[in-house]
Amino acid sequence: MSTRGAAMRKQQKPLVIAIDGPAASGKSTLAEKLAQRLGFFYFDTGVMYRAATLAAMKDLGGVEDEKAVTRLTAAVQIDVRPPSVEDGRVMDVLLNGEDVTWEIRTPEVDRNVSPVSAYEGVRTILTNRQRDIGMRGNMVMVGRDIGTVVFPDARYKIYLEASPEERARRRLKEMQLRGETHSFEEVLQSIIRRDGIDSTRQHAPLKPAVDAVIIDTDGKSIEEVLEETLAIVQP
Ligand code: C5P
Repeated sequence: MSTRGAAMRKQQKPLVIAIDGPAASGKSTLAEKLAQRLGFFYFDTGVMYRAATLAAMKDLGGVEDEKAVTRLTAAVQIDVRPPSVEDGRVMDVLLNGEDVTWEIRTPEVDRNVSPVSAYEGVRTILTNRQRDIGMRGNMVMVGRDIGTVVFPDARYKIYLEASPEERARRRLKEMQLRGETHSFEEVLQSIIRRDGIDSTRQHAPLKPAVDAVIIDTDGKSIEEVLEETLAIVQP
């Protein structure tokens, strides 16, 4: 291949902005707004782990059997589409064609998703699917390991942080808007437990990439975080 050909091919490669961070750190809200501003696709990889978890809960009655969960993950079809219903969703999530957009957000899925995400085979399958999706066009991709594992050569890497209490307050507010009632303590404990599993697992643990820009969002509005990000991201 000529140098010019290689250069052109390199130029055509879609641009990925990786946004990682712990549960409820504001990644999705930031990524959605950022994608809108830049005219990029927005892709939240967490929905894939949630959909695989829901599939295991439904078809296997639980998530303990690593081999069975991995086999099932390989077999299920998980699709993300533009929203078809105006009920606060930013996208439709389909599991084997069935709309599971809200079902993947229940406390039961929250409880089971981190153990499923720690399975190496599940990660391999979903990481490959995420890489394929990332090649479809310029994208803001959200997760735990986008900057470290899925796209380690992403042009920009942002890692959001906030205290567990601030994150629990935000998550509780979102749940209340959906008409769900939970106690602050319950939400806080669920977030702390999930972060604990996500950051100590053997495969692709939650951590900032060495070249990520870390943004502490404690006490900041989404607009402030968006402006801070736009100052870093110059496509
Ligand atoms: O981002 P969200 O809270 O929806 O993610 C749900 C779970 O999926 C996380 O707690 C984590 O266990 C897993 N996850 C992951 N890697 C990603 C995205 C999500 O392990 N890239």
